[in-house]
Amino acid sequence: MSTLNKKTVEDIDVKGKKVLVRCDFNVKMEDGVITSDKRIVASLPTIQYLIDQGAMLILCSHLGRPKGAFDPAFSMAPVAARLSELLGKEVKLASDVVGESAKSLAAALQPGDVMLLENVRFEPGETKNDPALSKAFADLADIFVNDAFGSAHRAHSSTTGVADYLPSAVGYLIQKEIEFIGGALENPKRPLVAILGGAKVSDKIGVINNLLEKCDKLIIGGGMAYTFFASQGLNIGNSLVDHDNIEAAKGMMAKAKALGKPFMLPVDNVIATRYDENAEYMRIYSDSIPDGWMGLDIGPVTSELYAKSIKDAGTIIWNGPMGVSEWEHFANGTISVARAIAETDAISIIGGGDSAAAIKKLGFADKMSHISTGGGASLEFLEGKELPGIACIDEK
Ligand code: AMP
Repeated sequence: MSTLNKKTVEDIDVKGKKVLVRCDFNVKMEDGVITSDKRIVASLPTIQYLIDQGAMLILCSHLGRPKGAFDPAFSMAPVAARLSELLGKEVKLASDVVGESAKSLAAALQPGDVMLLENVRFEPGETKNDPALSKAFADLADIFVNDAFGSAHRAHSSTTGVADYLPSAVGYLIQKEIEFIGGALENPKRPLVAILGGAKVSDKIGVINNLLEKCDKLIIGGGMAYTFFASQGLNIGNSLVDHDNIEAAKGMMAKAKALGKPFMLPVDNVIATRYDENAEYMRIYSDSIPDGWMGLDIGPVTSELYAKSIKDAGTIIWNGPMGVSEWEHFANGTISVARAIAETDAISIIGGGDSAAAIKKLGFADKMSHISTGGGASLEFLEGKELPGIACIDEK
């Protein structure tokens, strides 16, 4: 399946139509107060476009993990209030999801009006992708638009099921993810270089496997590097190791060799006496990590080598830090890689919370082509898995 030929909001005629938009309004909250409205802000381009086109908007989202019934702690009321401020127009909140309140508010909509349904997870059928609930969502509207990338890997009623009953398109947020991640996987500007880091091999086995086939070069850093070293019989001291995946790691290195693709591992490391921000540390080559020490970052020689090997990349996909980037003494590898990516002309795609956070903290965010908004969804996308929330959308 190609993701690149999905209909977008600009491919459909929405004038005077009721459009159900699945957004990602799963904002951070504390005691009923929104602590970051980033996700609401991110959804504005799609909402504003639909308003400008004269559509009648019915927005919906989940928020937190209510247990399939109304719970005021998970009400969308704060979201409706913030949205009203941001849009400069009243966003009416239904007191239910697909019940009488939702129906009567939807029936009264005029072109350009915006309403919000209550938390879709108040309905027990939502996470079960219950066809009856999907149909009830569809009965409220004429068109379905999915713009919730962070939930696109979940086959739920409001992300997937509803598309069985309505014409559909993706919003700008998902369109951008498809353009960059889908584009990099299906039709990359070459050479395509993948840089993978982070703690565990187990989380990224599927990603490494898929990217190994698509990319021209694979670069490994972070805690997961030590499982690869262990698979080659090297001494890794007390470094993080994923014992269950040593064979898989070995298999991946053999696969890279068979495919003739460079598979780069750190040549030097910053090692420490314990897993502690203030632990004693030193630099050492990868073949001589002493007993009792653990690798917490790639070393400076590796940083330079990695920077050089991405210099001429056409496309770079980066997921996962090169070390314990939260701690100053072990953040240099991640900083160097972030800087090196920022300095290339490559299409750069950043996925995963820690690498995205490092990029933002260093002020490189606007130098990246794309920073993915969905952790789990972007990993599944990179694994080559079909995302139900995208697969269900009509093709052009
Ligand atoms: P992930 O969620 O898999 O992307 O992993 C991110 C986490 O990996 C961060 O919290 C890092 O501190 C951690 N990490 C990166 N390198 C290492 C390492 N060498 N040893 C232990 N943890 C690491």
